[in-house]
Amino acid sequence: MENVIIIGGGPAGLAAALYTSRANLNPLVFAGSPPGGQLMLTSDVENYPGFESILGPDLINKYREHIKKFGVRLIDQNITEADFKASPFTFKTVDKNYQSKAVIIATGAKALWLGFENEQRLRGKGVSACATCDGFFFKEKTVAVVGGGDTAMEEALTLTKFAKAVYLIHRRGEFRASKIMQDRVKTHPKIHIIYNAEVADVMGENRVEGIKLKRTASLSHAITDKPPLKSPPYQGGEKGEAILNLEGLFLAIGHQPDTNIFKGQVELDSKGYIVTSGRLSSELAKLKAQNVKFKITIENSKLEEIKDKFNLNFASVTSVEGVFAAGDCVDYRYRQAGTAVGMGIAAALEVEKYLEVSSKY
Ligand SMILES: Cc1cc2nc3c(=O)[nH]c(=O)nc-3n(C[C@H](O)[C@H](O)[C@H](O)COP(=O)(O)OP(=O)(O)OC[C@H]3O[C@@H](n4cnc5c(N)ncnc54)[C@H](O)[C@@H]3O)c2cc1C
Repeated sequence: MENVIIIGGGPAGLAAALYTSRANLNPLVFAGSPPGGQLMLTSDVENYPGFESILGPDLINKYREHIKKFGVRLIDQNITEADFKASPFTFKTVDKNYQSKAVIIATGAKALWLGFENEQRLRGKGVSACATCDGFFFKEKTVAVVGGGDTAMEEALTLTKFAKAVYLIHRRGEFRASKIMQDRVKTHPKIHIIYNAEVADVMGENRVEGIKLKRTASLSHAITDKPPLKSPPYQGGEKGEAILNLEGLFLAIGHQPDTNIFKGQVELDSKGYIVTSGRLSSELAKLKAQNVKFKITIENSKLEEIKDKFNLNFASVTSVEGVFAAGDCVDYRYRQAGTAVGMGIAAALEVEKYLEVSSKY
């Protein structure tokens, strides 16, 4: 019987492991296969405090070495099944069963990619899925963002702080983003919108040099020619393929949280993100600020009961008592290594309190 099982070997899970091990809880970590999470897919990380520049995989190795010093048991396997219906919770891997009194889910998320070979080959060499992470590398360069939702608008606006020009490419004739975000994008002097087109290929040997565009429908309106672009592609009703010379391509076509195995076990939102007490309170605060009247019913949830028991406002409690969640499997907003670490630490401290108060330790 384990005190706490941590599922996930990215920044959130490994930070939770550090804190629970130093609290003498002897955590067991399933780091997944392959382990390490999203930072394994990137090269330079320049926004993680304490490191001017470090390769993503090197940062993960440092976390792993650090927690091993405190005797953390790391298993680089996936949990294939979890059962939270009764306490202790039970877990399966391909070859063994486990039990624990508490669990921290930190299974992260995957950025969605277009999926063709050159895009994958040039990932980290001009192709990215995170403007906050990589925008800084594109000072005075020309870049493109692919997508049509709020995230794509946000990514494009973030990139205007660095790039000299930002193409926003959308395969439909209108965005599904909120009106306020659309307005900000449409009126921004550096953003050039290309509707009804999709990326057909990425060009470049060692770095991105351009992209090939293909029309998805004929265009009724030309893109606005704003400085510094002199000759925008697809003017008027042009069809066919076009080449855009640029240095960066940012995909903003969505993220998929890795929470399939928890369906029916803990509350997930419509996109599969785990609903935690922290998420709930920020959404409620948003509604309150907008003067929206609301009534909450938390079915089959002990959230309120747990909160009273601790007399504390915990952030990582899920709809099942004893199950906590942290990192990108919860956070659809910030999606940074630093924020995932913070959430992992909060979850670890909450587990420590939970085991103490519920006398399960
Ligand atoms: C290309 C790219 C570049 C980025 N660059 C930066 C950057 O420069 N700076 C920055 O701060 N952030 C960056 N990020 C974002 C950052 O990587 C994430 O926010 C962070 O990794 C989230 O941490 P996490 O622990 O929540 O999840 P993840 O890193 O996604 O880790 C999840 C872990 O869970 C494991 N797992 C999943 N399912 C199971 C299971 N069933 N059983 C066991 N284990 C499981 C996975 O194997 C993995 O180990 C970047 C992301 C990408 C994709």
